[in-house]
Amino acid sequence: MDIRNRIAIGPDSSDAEILAAVDAWIEAEVPEPWRVAAQQGRETIRSVRSRADYTAWYPGFAASGLVVASWPVGYGGLGLEPRQARLAEQRLAPFNLGRLNPLGLHNMAPALFAHGTEDQRLRFLPPMVANTERWCQMFSEPGAGSDLASLSTRAERDGDEWVLSGQKVWSTWAHQSEFAVCLARTDPSLPKRRGITYFLVDLRCPGVEIRELRHMGGAVDFNEVWLEEVRVPDCHRVGAEGDGWRVAGSTLAGERQMVAGAGSGGVDRIGGSGVLRLVERARVNAVEPIMRDRLARLYAEERVRAWTNQRVRATVSAGGTPGPAASVGKVHQGALNQQLQLLACDMLGLGAQAFSAAERYEDALPYEVSGMLRSRANTIEGGTTEVNKNVIGEKVLGLPREPDPYHGAGWEDTPR
Ligand SMILES: Cc1cc2nc3c(=O)[nH]c(=O)nc-3n(C[C@H](O)[C@H](O)[C@H](O)COP(=O)(O)OP(=O)(O)OC[C@H]3O[C@@H](n4cnc5c(N)ncnc54)[C@H](O)[C@@H]3O)c2cc1C
Repeated sequence: MDIRNRIAIGPDSSDAEILAAVDAWIEAEVPEPWRVAAQQGRETIRSVRSRADYTAWYPGFAASGLVVASWPVGYGGLGLEPRQARLAEQRLAPFNLGRLNPLGLHNMAPALFAHGTEDQRLRFLPPMVANTERWCQMFSEPGAGSDLASLSTRAERDGDEWVLSGQKVWSTWAHQSEFAVCLARTDPSLPKRRGITYFLVDLRCPGVEIRELRHMGGAVDFNEVWLEEVRVPDCHRVGAEGDGWRVAGSTLAGERQMVAGAGSGGVDRIGGSGVLRLVERARVNAVEPIMRDRLARLYAEERVRAWTNQRVRATVSAGGTPGPAASVGKVHQGALNQQLQLLACDMLGLGAQAFSAAERYEDALPYEVSGMLRSRANTIEGGTTEVNKNVIGEKVLGLPREPDPYHGAGWEDTPR
């Protein structure tokens, strides 16, 4: 990424200088039809901007440093203080400039910041920001989802390399990614959480086979990934050997926060825009009083969700980690979005109940229907609601841990 294209602001800039520089950048770089559409609201932008347009335009956005304004310049940012970065973000918000490569920015980057080496950050963060290297997460396995620590993918050391073999599943966007973060077992004799190591895997390497899985909405979002003696250099190990569980904690907290909407840069991404759309629909079309009541209750709940997320973001901005409190937002968001999507279908009436196979596979389902189908995953992805409630119970409320009859036993001696 060419840092000569960064906009000329930094931590010493005044608020007025930051706002003036962002305004000038918007004027020069955001295409005019998008700017005009933004005056009619964020949703209107979609009608003049295709995903392909946005992806083609994105490298200039990344080069400006505004995608991750609070990151150091060497990693692709502008080195702004979190408060200054928020100011710039607020100025950009009406133009709906979402961040591409979310699994890299939200899941992998936190692990590199907390546990990576400087060489790793300089190597991997700039192309991640530029979206020239896209990332996915390979943690879950057929026999290890909620109980992720029981995973079986093996990594054996061979000189300066590791040799990885095993099967991963639910790997979102692996078919469109260049790299993956991957957990593998390096010492089966240790208790399950202690023998795991965290790797960065180049998916173009020999031995990686990616098989697409089609979900009930009709699209392919996730995959099975088979690793057969895949060679990973030791410099792509993050954290110490056997310390992968701790490193993964940064990734998983970032993921929960992203899924809950708090880390997305647009807090309203999942629940918020949905509820505002419904309010709009209710304004235009008369809806029954019972539906209006449901909508009002969900709108209020949605505001509570957004504020909870803002608190988590404020903690992160102040230098803290999202931590187990991110589970609160995750649990709340999952149930809330499912209720919102069901209400959307009820408001749509018959149009939500019948659609052709062609509509389904061509991504042409009414927004309400595709949203309702997609929302079923919200209480599973990023850790299920039940498991997140366990996290809240143990780590937020201080309740006793779930009993584990095999506590302290080696992974290889534990039934799976
Ligand atoms: C849309 C989507 C995208 C995903 N993307 C990725 C990805 O990119 N990378 C990745 O690695 N994984 C991904 N996952 C996997 C996801 O993290 C797992 O599906 C999730 O952790 C649950 O694991 P499982 O499916 O094996 O279910 P299981 O762990 O088998 O759980 C089955 C049921 O048992 C319940 N349960 C399990 N243990 C407990 C317990 N201790 N207490 C109470 N109830 C319990 C669960 O809540 C659930 O209802 C994705 C999943 C989805 C749906």
